[in-house]
Amino acid sequence: MTMYKLASKDRRAASVVRAADVPFGDGGFSMIAGPCAVESRAQIERTAQFVALCGAQMLRGGAFKPRTSPYAFQGLGAEGVELIAQASGAARLPCVVEALCEADLDVLSGRVAMIQIGARNMQNFALLRAAAKTGLPVLLKRSASATLDEVLYAAEYILVEGNPNVVLCERGIRGFDPQTRNVFDLAGALRLKELTHLPVIADPSHATGRASLIEPVVLAAAAAGLDGAIVEVHPDPPQALSDKEQALDFPAFERLMRRLGALLDTEPNVPLAACR
Ligand code: PEP
Ligand code: MN
Repeated sequence: MTMYKLASKDRRAASVVRAADVPFGDGGFSMIAGPCAVESRAQIERTAQFVALCGAQMLRGGAFKPRTSPYAFQGLGAEGVELIAQASGAARLPCVVEALCEADLDVLSGRVAMIQIGARNMQNFALLRAAAKTGLPVLLKRSASATLDEVLYAAEYILVEGNPNVVLCERGIRGFDPQTRNVFDLAGALRLKELTHLPVIADPSHATGRASLIEPVVLAAAAAGLDGAIVEVHPDPPQALSDKEQALDFPAFERLMRRLGALLDTEPNVPLAACR
């Protein structure tokens, strides 16, 4: 019995989801890069320009941050959305920004190319329905404790509202060993692709919590046939206001893109020497 009707792979070819002009699920590997949080105009502009030069296809950056502690940096809110929207336009890099509630969706609509629903809100069903109704593509992250069936039911809430543009994201599930922030479930992500026609990407930043592990996990995801990755990049990681241990600095991101290009046998958009 098929439980999730619209997300199921049954009799369906793989879906290609486009955020602005960036494809997910077309057989390529699309890279989304940017800071955990938008912190200032200079920070998001510099990062956008740099990741674009290195061949990233999309920009990320949180403006509404779902922090574990209410005393931690909560994001710049609407001002952050304005800053990433401007940086995105200047770098010609469509952007994805997370919404924590329905009011955030109103701020994001018309300013971003894709809405992110984070791990903590994966089963916020009212938010899923509201995100679907924006008409924008939705990047739906797996909760740290969700089974794959639960991920697909969550996706179903978006699809059933008439929005077919859902990209799933494996961002690590809760394990027992604090050596990594979460456990990157590569086999789970591959099993998801057996179960659904929707594209599936990897988030090695939140999965591992360590900058040193991001490149190898992205390469593993690409070699295994996932549809892309979303990674955190910051101009000065030790100064980042959130997730500093898992942010790549610019040279590390350039190296990652070079090695990814070699693995996939594709040319980066521009000579990477221009990044220096
Ligand atoms: C994020 O992308 O910054 C984020 C908070 O991710 P997650 O929901 O996967 O923890
Ligand atoms: Mn983060």
